Amino acid sequence: MRAPVRYLVVPTADVAGGATAAHFGDKSILWVPADQRLGRGSRTAPGLLVVTQVGRSFQDEYPEVTPLLDHGRQLVISAADKPRKRSNHCWRIDPLQPGTFVEVASARASRVDPSVANLLGQLSPTSYQADLTWLASLPTRHSLSASFKTAVDFAAARMVALGYTTTRMPITVGAGHSENLIGDRPGAGPGPRGLVVITAHLDSINLAGGPAGNAPGADDNASGAAGVLELGRLLSSQGWQHDVRLILFGGEEEGLFGSKQYVATLPAAERSRVRAVLNMDMIASKNSAVPAVLLEGAAVSSGQIADLATAAATYTGLKVETSLNPFASDHVPFINAAMPAVLTIEGADSANGHIHSANDTLNFLDWSLAAEILRMNAAALAGWLVPAVAQRPIVAGPVVAWGPNRLDVFVTGPDHALHHKAWDGDTWSGYETLGGVIG
Ligand SMILES: [Zn+2]
Repeated sequence: MRAPVRYLVVPTADVAGGATAAHFGDKSILWVPADQRLGRGSRTAPGLLVVTQVGRSFQDEYPEVTPLLDHGRQLVISAADKPRKRSNHCWRIDPLQPGTFVEVASARASRVDPSVANLLGQLSPTSYQADLTWLASLPTRHSLSASFKTAVDFAAARMVALGYTTTRMPITVGAGHSENLIGDRPGAGPGPRGLVVITAHLDSINLAGGPAGNAPGADDNASGAAGVLELGRLLSSQGWQHDVRLILFGGEEEGLFGSKQYVATLPAAERSRVRAVLNMDMIASKNSAVPAVLLEGAAVSSGQIADLATAAATYTGLKVETSLNPFASDHVPFINAAMPAVLTIEGADSANGHIHSANDTLNFLDWSLAAEILRMNAAALAGWLVPAVAQRPIVAGPVVAWGPNRLDVFVTGPDHALHHKAWDGDTWSGYETLGGVIG
């Protein structure tokens, strides 16, 4: 007979180093190993399991199971309560191991970059809200429905108007047919150029109502799909060194059909060009007192997660949590193929009980949370894409002038114009163009 599991849920800040514990943001669970013979049994917590779920899908399916620790997307449950199934595409059960599952980001703000601040000032709440509202006004965006095609037509027209070259990729969803929408805008940098991919799923679902049920999918995921269009609009306003690709997937709700098939057909040469994949899935419901976001990726995307956390600390008031346990959205197939993908999702998403039903409607959205997440994402994107104007002019015989606490550098750029930057004793200014083409 097994010894009973002894566990304790405590604030993470109170956990002493070396304790056998698993951390879920500011909550941790400690346990007393029930089987310590010969040092075995210490790799997992005996009798404890971790559930990763989309929304409240596990809790809705097993309301009789009381979580020992509830961190929304992650739950700790007793093995005694384990259902027969180990997973479906909405939830997964794993052994609980000591370590960190969800971390409160410790990123510090960096210096505000005026060009990034200027870019963020061009984000348009009006444009974002109009796109989201239009998408959520369709009766459904079920992947196999006629109105999913209507949504693709709408998004494709928006991308074309912004200067993107669009491709409609046919996909299968079980026995049915749907599609992904892809929009490309080449960078202006000298080759070889990298690729930055911005994704969201366009489809929606009503689990109880079936394919014919009303599925406005305002948060899940008109909020992310409209985010792709808004970031696409913002990025089309200036030149970047690297290529931008927007993707709206179909078949996500049935099991990531669109993103799996997209990644499977992506040539190796394209995969190796990917600098970042930014996925948005549910970014407009505020489920906690403090506006919060979860950045979810894997070791392959830890650099991109750090960039996003720094962007959040510098340009937003978001509380940031990070997780390296990717699950159940379109970032997963990219990560499985070793591409650096990150999911950005509203904090405490599992407290949102409206998704996957007719109740996922506009009136539950918090526009200011979505705006903050878009600011974070846009700032990180600017860093990955590199503004084309940031290309350093090729120095052709620099002219230097100086005075007390002042240094001036004049150079001729590859555009044959004269550029000037100055040191004021503390910082360098950016290059300014002094008009007139030389020679
Ligand atoms: Zn979703």
